[in-house]
Amino acid sequence: MPHGPAFAVKKTSKVYLHTDIEGVAGYVHYYSMSASLWNFHHVQRMNRLLTGEINAAALACKESGVKEVWVNDSHGPCYNILFEELDPICRILHGRPGHAPSWLPGLDESFDAAIAIGMHPKAGTPNAVCNHSLWHLTDALGITHRFSETVMAALLCATRKVPLVAVSGDQHICREISEWIPGCRTAEVKTSLGIQFANSLHPLAAQALIAESVREGLSQVGSIPLPQITGPFRLNVSDRDPDKKELPADLCGDSLWELMHQVCNTLYAKFGETESVDDRTWRYPDSVFSPRKSP
Ligand SMILES: [Zn+2]
Repeated sequence: MPHGPAFAVKKTSKVYLHTDIEGVAGYVHYYSMSASLWNFHHVQRMNRLLTGEINAAALACKESGVKEVWVNDSHGPCYNILFEELDPICRILHGRPGHAPSWLPGLDESFDAAIAIGMHPKAGTPNAVCNHSLWHLTDALGITHRFSETVMAALLCATRKVPLVAVSGDQHICREISEWIPGCRTAEVKTSLGIQFANSLHPLAAQALIAESVREGLSQVGSIPLPQITGPFRLNVSDRDPDKKELPADLCGDSLWELMHQVCNTLYAKFGETESVDDRTWRYPDSVFSPRKSP
């Protein structure tokens, strides 16, 4: 794979690689709860495609002089990435984040840049593959923004002074990122044509595009501005329907980082509390193979 010179060795020694799966080239619908062989193979294939895109980004980091890449496996069961197939430059955050902050765990000011791979469009985006999740964020001026998870991730990174330098996904997420974070490189690895229909690049072409955007983003790391938004904030979230908020009332606060975790804590988990794990029902990642209903 051709690549440019190593850039900014000192500026970017540690990179945070945030991941999701719905924006990966080749991914057009969620896996089902079926224990069928077809579904089993589907999950393996999608995880392999995801892993390929992440590895392309990690290798581009390495070529650019990065010394350490932290990969955040954050889709569904948070145990999707074939970690053993990644370059050894990577370490990974994966498993059950129910008792720990699930948004960008471990991110702090020691990171020089962030990258987001496999990002999906926000809920309500017409004809967009697996569009879901929409964050209603009201700022100090009383303006309510409707952000995707990716823009929220960029805002959270900014609270830790970490610029988001490259994003991959479909045309919708790439456009939203370009509007909010000028300078962040985007790799449009597929064109959404419907909620379960897309025109995807071949995996190798998608990986090459991602690598290029990562190299470019890292080369410009010092000039990519951190997105600015001023609190106090009000925050709520929609899942599939952009007009149906999950919380009965917005949560309020001055720290976006704290507020984001407070919302997730309220909705999904009890961060900070000791977890009891039933090993018999948790032998396999639940949303794929367990006979239990998804939460
Ligand atoms: Zn996901």
